[in-house]
Amino acid sequence: MKAVRTLETAASIGWNGTSLRAMLEANEEAFARTGRYAGVEALELKEREPILYEKIFSKLRGALVTARATAMNISASPIVKEIGELCFSVYTPEGDSIALSTGIIVHVHTMSDAIKYMIREDFENNPGIADGDIFINNDPHIGDVHNADVQTLVPIFHDDAIIGWAGGVTHEIDIGALTPGSVPVGPTSRFEDGIDVPALKCGANDTLFRDHELRCAKATRAPTFWKLDEKARIAGNHLIRRAVLELVEEIGLDTYKKAIREIIEEGRRSFLQRIKELTVPGRYRSTAFSTYGFSGEERLPAHARIDCIAHMPLEMTIERDGMLGLSMEGADKWGYHSMNCTPSGMQGAVWVVLSQLVVPNDKVNDGAYYGTRQYYPLGSWANPGDPSVSTGIAWLFLIPSFTSLVKHLSRAFQARGYLEDVIAPYGVTGNVFQGGGLDQYGAQSATTNFEFGCAGTGAGFCRDGLDFAAAVWNPEGDMGEVEIWETVEPFLYLGRRVKPNTAGPGKFRGGAGIESLKMAWNTPHYELQNINSGKAFENSGLWGGYPNATGYRKNLKRNNLAEVVAARKPYPVRDGDTAASEIDRCLTAELVQYDDHTVTLPHAFGERDLYLSVQNGGKGLGDPLERDPRSVAEDVATGFLSERFAKTTYGVVLTRANDDVDVDMEATAAERASMRATRRAEARPVSEWRKAQRERVLRGDMIEPVRRMYRSAMELSTAFADEFRAFHELPDDYTL
Ligand code: MN
Repeated sequence: MKAVRTLETAASIGWNGTSLRAMLEANEEAFARTGRYAGVEALELKEREPILYEKIFSKLRGALVTARATAMNISASPIVKEIGELCFSVYTPEGDSIALSTGIIVHVHTMSDAIKYMIREDFENNPGIADGDIFINNDPHIGDVHNADVQTLVPIFHDDAIIGWAGGVTHEIDIGALTPGSVPVGPTSRFEDGIDVPALKCGANDTLFRDHELRCAKATRAPTFWKLDEKARIAGNHLIRRAVLELVEEIGLDTYKKAIREIIEEGRRSFLQRIKELTVPGRYRSTAFSTYGFSGEERLPAHARIDCIAHMPLEMTIERDGMLGLSMEGADKWGYHSMNCTPSGMQGAVWVVLSQLVVPNDKVNDGAYYGTRQYYPLGSWANPGDPSVSTGIAWLFLIPSFTSLVKHLSRAFQARGYLEDVIAPYGVTGNVFQGGGLDQYGAQSATTNFEFGCAGTGAGFCRDGLDFAAAVWNPEGDMGEVEIWETVEPFLYLGRRVKPNTAGPGKFRGGAGIESLKMAWNTPHYELQNINSGKAFENSGLWGGYPNATGYRKNLKRNNLAEVVAARKPYPVRDGDTAASEIDRCLTAELVQYDDHTVTLPHAFGERDLYLSVQNGGKGLGDPLERDPRSVAEDVATGFLSERFAKTTYGVVLTRANDDVDVDMEATAAERASMRATRRAEARPVSEWRKAQRERVLRGDMIEPVRRMYRSAMELSTAFADEFRAFHELPDDYTL
């Protein structure tokens, strides 16, 4: 009888007999009406019992951090275990984040999108949401950044009503896409992006469905990592569920319900308050770019073979009440490549920047989301509005696009006087060593080497950036042990070193990157991609600081390493300064790929072929001619800067005695005075420069990728077209 009754009509799982969808709608209506989360007016619990209130938040936060630490040890994938590329969050029944763990905080709001999608699509009635259910999602059009980020969502029930959700994400090492690895460059539509789990129920009674497990094992080139990552996410979610239920047991359900609403509303208020404290209201504008060159790529469909520079204007507005507005008006159209991004992915990137720069220590949750207004034009790469669009390596556009947000916030902090919070923009993280083939065990395998989680950070207001420290998308980043990567990839590290000249120069320089030189070893066939920023600077540094170096590609195929080793001659462990390449000094090869072609499809590597992987530095702050000459000498002495740039970039004249590098102060002062004089002589009034640019624009004097970029942006946005014409004083009918 009981089984039959459940078939009649599913009982509502919301509070007070309502449906979950009704709860979500009521919440949204209350926010629209009052501007406050769930319409919460007074933070009663916080005011009445402040210690209990803080204890509740701390217990939730503690449970999430514990769940993450435990889950990291269940996973075996180096991306999760070594780099910590996972995070957990706990949500309200309606899918708003209350608290989150450390880790890739990108996903706090993407999982919120996924939960809300399931609620809006009435999952409550079909396929049903019950205690013990497990859901999975990796669809960026629903709520995610790219397919590689796989989410597990578990509802938390108390008696017969849902009281929340636990959610966890890991980044998979292979996603079964057209090309091997986790962030495929090669797909031109979503049908090639790899395994597709668009918010599905994949388990019940705390157990995964067998059909789901079997299906997934066949859909990725790294089934073992997939399986263990999934177990890690489920275990973390179950730990969180238990902690929430224990908390409810301790404080009572009514108090819990009240607390979670207040915590989010407090998150919203404190976000606005932080913005008001730290910044000056106004409008901040900047543009960033990302590039790839596929015009000669015959493996792609003809319509995808173009050289592209993407337009990424970002306007930030800060209102008097602290409301933060972000607009990408003027972004160009989405394209037949895998670097497009959905609004959910954009949200993820906004989150990761805001949680590091604006709310690093406060109650970080979806309250901050309610303190922002964001606009991503429909039809642009940032909001394609078409479910067939590929987003496989969304980060390749996403990362550069938000360099402007870092710049804007830093300008705003500086204007308010919070100099210690200023940071110059990061760089595009670095080269992605990615590919697949047969590994050293004779098995099918694929990899995305996450040592690019260790890039240099931007310079501070009165300090250099941190060297090989972290990546913007994972502030707890790590490069991982060489030996661990060597166990999963048929490549041996010949060396991993500081990469000279990667840091963006400035009065304070950016942090430096690293380089790894890797040799194919014990593989019958393996194909790898080069993925980095090579053709353009994505953005500038701050207040005269230079951008970090762009990346380059260097692969040596069919080289003479075997003979060099047999003859016991020195072999290279790095490339070092490209003008005095250690690789070139030691080796020759039949095919040397040394160029700015840094976004490629997979290409074959044979036994002992070499692959150089360069991770980028951060951007500089202030004029390099103002840098303390002794710091320049130290950078040269420690291998962060080549001696040749001390003079040309910094105007510093060095002296050498044995291994000691010293500064000739007098010659340096003279050199800097002469460089300043040259600058004055070469400088032109802005009005003249604008006139010359206007002539160029009128003549259409620009390379094809730039012409296509502006044409696309003008076609998509009347506002941008009007502004472009007005700025250059062009006729009303001007087009490109
Ligand atoms: Mn990811």
